[in-house]
Amino acid sequence: MNHLFRLLPSMDRVLAHLESGPHMADFAHVPRPLVREAAQAFLDGLREEIKAGLVADEASLSWDTLASRIACFARSFVRPRFRRVLNATGVVVHTNLGRSVLPESAVTAVIDACRHYSNLEFDLATGQRGSRHSLVESLLCQLTGAEAAIAVNNNAAAVFLVLESLCKGREVVVSRGQLVEIGGSFRVPEVMAKSGAILREVGATNRTHLRDYEAAIGPDTAALMRVHTSNFRMIGFTKEVGLDELCALGRERALPVIEDLGSGTLYDFAQAGLPGEPTVRDVVAAGADVVTFSGDKMLGGPQAGVIIGKREHLDVIRKNQLARALRLDKMTLAALEAVLRLYLDPAIARREIPTLAMICATPKELADKARRLARTLKRSVGAHFEVSVRPGASRVGGGAFPERDLPTSLVCLYPLDASLKVDDLRERLLHTDPPLVGRVEDGRFCLDPRTLTIPEFTLAASALALAASGNHC
Ligand SMILES: *Cc1c(COP(=O)(O)O)cnc(C)c1O
Repeated sequence: MNHLFRLLPSMDRVLAHLESGPHMADFAHVPRPLVREAAQAFLDGLREEIKAGLVADEASLSWDTLASRIACFARSFVRPRFRRVLNATGVVVHTNLGRSVLPESAVTAVIDACRHYSNLEFDLATGQRGSRHSLVESLLCQLTGAEAAIAVNNNAAAVFLVLESLCKGREVVVSRGQLVEIGGSFRVPEVMAKSGAILREVGATNRTHLRDYEAAIGPDTAALMRVHTSNFRMIGFTKEVGLDELCALGRERALPVIEDLGSGTLYDFAQAGLPGEPTVRDVVAAGADVVTFSGDKMLGGPQAGVIIGKREHLDVIRKNQLARALRLDKMTLAALEAVLRLYLDPAIARREIPTLAMICATPKELADKARRLARTLKRSVGAHFEVSVRPGASRVGGGAFPERDLPTSLVCLYPLDASLKVDDLRERLLHTDPPLVGRVEDGRFCLDPRTLTIPEFTLAASALALAASGNHC
């Protein structure tokens, strides 16, 4: 083993190979300490391989063999950790992949907001200090019919801020059927406890009646609350109290009704053949006093949490010191305003907001897109894979339309090289640039064109070519 260690190239030689050798252009703009770290990590990795007995012959330590591995390793080592990926999963609002892709007008607004000074907190009408919250409030009110609005860091923050502002030290009545956990870190009972509000659970897991809420109301009650159960659905012998009924009860007892919509939508998906999610406007019209929803789920905007509702409650929320800690930054505000403006015309929203366009894509559009993707892949990697188009299903994600399948057409690949397992292919594709995330179905690697753009087809083809050749790193 010792003689193998002696064959390892020196640090200087590895560094020179990267900084002044054939790959110098790739590393010219990389901070030097990072290139050094890459070289060190490469050599450390080789030592580990020798120790583990994975490298036992001299040939695999020859400079010719190592030279290309070094460049490949270093290129991936020095890449920013935060990267673009190709989402071929068909899950539109994929929380692990950054949820919503922004429309072009929002991208432009973000660039402007970060490249220049702005009127973030400067009232151009008076030349005096202004409020950042006023930048999106009137649009939110116009789009939802609410009296007042504020946007904060995300919907978890929105729910927390509402409870802390309006219900601290007092009771909030919630149905047991709605005490859900969302995405592992947002649990209604825990958020409630942190906010200082006291959870008053009512009903049974599967059934809650209006009389359960009525019986729970007492002198300590601060609010009645409903929570969208998002990615969880109960079937069978179930009952929840509708918003109309709960709002009538709230009015009768002079208690605010808080609705956490989760995803929330400003677009009526029923027009696109997807009934079942009320719009935020419907919820306001039904009489909810305070409503919260996410900016980056079905809305298709940046990460944000929107709170809308009656002015008396919003005034209290805005004055809470926590509102400052949870406030939006200027780039997010710029993106949010740009996205909201598109909703002023629903037809434009559906066309321009990628999240809406992807959710509303018709089976025919998706079949055409799948055939086009299949053609691109056959042309470029047809020698490595059997390519077929099959019917399949996509999901909206983000807790919207839970358990509902959207019909799509999948492009499925089967490696012709029997030694390439489909799971290994999936794993190799995580190391291409950009990585390609798809799904394995029926022993095939499948791409759902719903969440891929046409310009991304050639990137997917390159990733597959690289993975098939084994030259990914
Ligand atoms: C997603 C969700 C949240 C959390 O929203 P974020 O924007 O991810 O913070 C809260 N409540 C419900 C019902 C949700 O679906």
